[in-house]
Amino acid sequence: MPELPEVETTLRGIEPYIINKKINDILVRQSSLRWEVPVKKLKENIVGESFSKIKRRAKYLIFTSNLGNLIIHLGMSGSLKILLNMEAPNKHDHIDIKFEDKSLLRFTDPRRFGSFHWTNKSTEHPLLMNLGPEPLGNHFSGEHLFNFSRGRKLPVKNFIMNSKTIAGIGNIYASESLFEAGIKPHKAAGKISLPKYENLAYSIKRILQESINLGGTSLKDFVGGEGKPGFYKPYLAVYGREGKKCKNCVTILKNIRIGQRSSVFCSNCQK
Ligand code: ZN
Repeated sequence: MPELPEVETTLRGIEPYIINKKINDILVRQSSLRWEVPVKKLKENIVGESFSKIKRRAKYLIFTSNLGNLIIHLGMSGSLKILLNMEAPNKHDHIDIKFEDKSLLRFTDPRRFGSFHWTNKSTEHPLLMNLGPEPLGNHFSGEHLFNFSRGRKLPVKNFIMNSKTIAGIGNIYASESLFEAGIKPHKAAGKISLPKYENLAYSIKRILQESINLGGTSLKDFVGGEGKPGFYKPYLAVYGREGKKCKNCVTILKNIRIGQRSSVFCSNCQK
C-alpha cells in the first residue's frame, strides 16, 4: 500500500511535468473506483485549465487550479506516472489526464481502492477535515501525542494510525516507529509517558524522512517507468518479519492482531 513517503515521492516525481501545463482532456476508462469518479465535474473544471501547484495532505495529493482542487488518493495499489507520449493503456490504467504538449499523467490501480474527487475553491473536502497534524510538520510533537492520548485505552498502534491523531501513518511506519521507540504496539495509549511519546514522535519523523530520502533516489521511475519505487523495504526492522530474529537482540519477533491488522514486535525490546 502506498504510504506517506511513497505519496510524497510521487508528488516530487510528477510535479515538474505538470505544473502550469494546459490540460487538454481527461480520459476515464473506469469510473468505478473506491468512490465513483465525478467524470463530468472533472471535465468541466479541469479541461482548458492548468494546475498551479500540487501538495500533499496525509496520503492525499491535492492539485490546485484556478477553479478548485482535484484530490487523488492512491488507495491500496494505485500509482501515478508521467508518459511523454500516448501509449496504449494496460488493463488497470484507468485514468489519463492529457496535457497540451502530448504528455499525460496516468493513474493505474489494480485493486481500485484509489479515488478522484473535486472541490471548488472555497470549500474544504470532507475527507480533509478533522485530519491531525502532518507528522513532518511543526505542529506534530511528543507533547501532542501525550496530551491527545490522556484517558484513552485503545492500543497505541491504533492511536497513531488514526488520522485524527496524526495524518497519514499506516501499518508499516506505525510498526517500525513503535519498535524504534521501544513501545509495544498493544500498550494502552493513555498509559504512555511524555518521554516515551517524545521518542516515538522522533522515530516517526526520522523513519518517514529517511524513507522519503531513499525514494528520492528513484524519481526518474515516475517518467515512462513503472511509477512504483521500492522504498524502505530492505531497512524494515519488524514489519513483515514475523518469526525472524530481532535486529537488536536475538528474540524471535511475534505477530499479534490489533484491530484486524498484523502487528509484528519484539517482546524484549518493546515494553
Ligand atoms: Zn529485540
